[in-house]
Amino acid sequence: SARTRFSARLVAATVRPPTQRPTGPVEIEQPITIRSLSSVLGIQAHVLQQKLITEHNTMITANDVLEDELAELLAVDYDAELIIRKSRDLERELITEEKSGDDQAAQPRPPVFTLLGHVDHGKTTLMDALRNANVVATESGGITQHTSAYRVHVGDRWATFIDTPGHEAFSEMRSRGANVTDIVVLVVAADDGVMPQTIEAINHAKAAGVPIVVALNKIDKNGADPDRVKAQLLQHELIPEDYGGQVGVVPISALHKQGLDDLLERIMLEAEILEIKADPDKAARGTVLEAHISEGRGAVASVLVQEGTLRPGDIILSSSGFGRVRALYDDRGQQLADAGPSTPVEVIGLDGVPEAGDKFYVLDSLDNARQIATQREAQRRSAARRPQRRALNLDNLSEFLAAGSVENLRVIIKTDVKGTLGAIRTQLEALSTDEVRVESLHTGVGAVNESDIQLANASEGIVLAYRVGVEPAARVLAENRGVDIRMFDVIYELIEEVKQGLEGLLAPERKEVIEGHAETRETFKVSRLGTVAGCIILDGTVNRRSRTRLTRDGVIAWEGEIDSLKRFKEDVSDVREGFECGIKLAGYDDVKVGDTLEFFHVEEIKRTLD
Ligand code: GDP
Repeated sequence: SARTRFSARLVAATVRPPTQRPTGPVEIEQPITIRSLSSVLGIQAHVLQQKLITEHNTMITANDVLEDELAELLAVDYDAELIIRKSRDLERELITEEKSGDDQAAQPRPPVFTLLGHVDHGKTTLMDALRNANVVATESGGITQHTSAYRVHVGDRWATFIDTPGHEAFSEMRSRGANVTDIVVLVVAADDGVMPQTIEAINHAKAAGVPIVVALNKIDKNGADPDRVKAQLLQHELIPEDYGGQVGVVPISALHKQGLDDLLERIMLEAEILEIKADPDKAARGTVLEAHISEGRGAVASVLVQEGTLRPGDIILSSSGFGRVRALYDDRGQQLADAGPSTPVEVIGLDGVPEAGDKFYVLDSLDNARQIATQREAQRRSAARRPQRRALNLDNLSEFLAAGSVENLRVIIKTDVKGTLGAIRTQLEALSTDEVRVESLHTGVGAVNESDIQLANASEGIVLAYRVGVEPAARVLAENRGVDIRMFDVIYELIEEVKQGLEGLLAPERKEVIEGHAETRETFKVSRLGTVAGCIILDGTVNRRSRTRLTRDGVIAWEGEIDSLKRFKEDVSDVREGFECGIKLAGYDDVKVGDTLEFFHVEEIKRTLD
């Protein structure tokens, strides 16, 4: 009957006959999945999956993408040879990374500025002043909405300001390949002058190759001393115009809205010199500044359009996936019909939440967007299985140099006192040869902080710490990013180690493994013993045998062994995070309340050529 014929067909379709095993090489197309491999090898998918688990320690579903090498290994198990046909690299075909403004059709676009500077020098006040000064009178009450970038009208032109929370964020974006800023506006308070974070900001901007204009703020204040600030800037190789240099220094009062027009005029002039352009008629692309999930609207991404014009309905691809733009909003919450180059917009309609610094592209079809997203996913998977990209450190430096992947050794130097900075810097730079130059990106006094790590990370540099500690958050960041921090207490050793690194002569790598941190809450004088530190373990653990480093106000005051470790008068071998304990440091009685103790041990790692 018709019914039995139907079910016979069904059976034939689902239970395939014992498959034909191929003889000789078989062709397969990327991306390779268990399913596609199963069909060319004639081996059932679950058999391949089982083999992957037992012999290759890999568990994946039938539709997951396999790395080529793994697919080849599997094929060898079944005496087959694979001929892998590369899939079209749609990403490369469709997404061309030309620099903005390279083509004929490019037109001038609004400049993009970022305000950087020391805390409390007036970045927020200046941002608000610039923004509110340009709000039409009907919008009473000013602007309350906060977005990650703003547009400001300057005469008949527009300027875009990126509101980064600091120079760390600025370099974090750069480490992801996103240089969105044309000019850095460095805010310096005229009464306070150049401060540590001002110097950090200068060096972050310099390392990024972005020109700087100085907004000399708080000029209204009694203690304002513009000449002193200019002299300080001079010391950091920012030569103000009155000193015969190129750097514009514009006195303003952000609070009293004085000098704002001069500042705008100056930065617009500076931008004109750069001749920044983009083609508004291309497919749009740009960078994600910030993204979050909003109830009712889904993923909301603040992006900066850098090329082309973005419109609702466009198919947009980012690192998190793809989707169709449902709506665009400007920095005042108004819906936009289009957003041209340098316009910051909020985009609704993305699939997933991209990260700050991710790029986005507009494509002509959903199919292409989907294919690229799939390919990227496959690459991500295989990258996750491969060992991590090795970051540059002093031990592998010579390999990086030999391979030509770096040309200079970029260093960030932190010391305990200012006097040693110059000496170290001069001696290091003197190690430069014709082939390789030692370049100091930043030097400063005090503990290694997150800014140092971000700068090193964005510039493929290393951090040299002379008699200073590392802030815990900076330590975590350095570990995540693979930034090399070297600690020294003898200048000669520092210079020697860098020299050996340059020559590729380093002995077994010695790596500090941080075990935990404690803070001293109380101290007790015990007559026979000396001073015992009553501590709380902030993170990790302390072990009786841990080597200990004591930091006071960011400077290393002592390093050595632990004499005794006690909990409630009991000797213990270790104490974990959140618990209190008494520590007697061996041969050191000067411990004070507020001191930080860092516990670590040193591991010797044999150098290998990989
Ligand atoms: P930020 O940390 O750089 O964002 O600094 P803020 O914008 O928060 O400013 C820090 C403090 O300085 C605030 O109390 C401001 O009111 C004040 N301030 C900012 N600009 C000026 C100025 O031009 N003159 C004076 N007198 N105070 C200012």
